[in-house]
Amino acid sequence: MASSIQQSLHAAVLEENVICPYCHENTVILPAENYRPIFVECSVCGKQFIAERMKKGIQVLKVEGAPCCSDPDRRAIETGLGDED
Ligand SMILES: [Zn+2]
Repeated sequence: MASSIQQSLHAAVLEENVICPYCHENTVILPAENYRPIFVECSVCGKQFIAERMKKGIQVLKVEGAPCCSDPDRRAIETGLGDED
């Protein structure tokens, strides 16, 4: 759903080099500015994985192997449920 947006982010300043958890090749991603896990797409194999900014760098996780606190989808769902009055 975000693929069209990602293609236009060409000269971003916050790009980071990471190792793709699927193909283990170097790929460049654009992590969130805060410490929030996000989905990114490997430019080598095209698979989506989770990138989370940590104090010492970027942590990458396979989508199916992520703990729920690092899964952007699950976190969004939990937050949504908690928002009810
Ligand atoms: Zn890859």
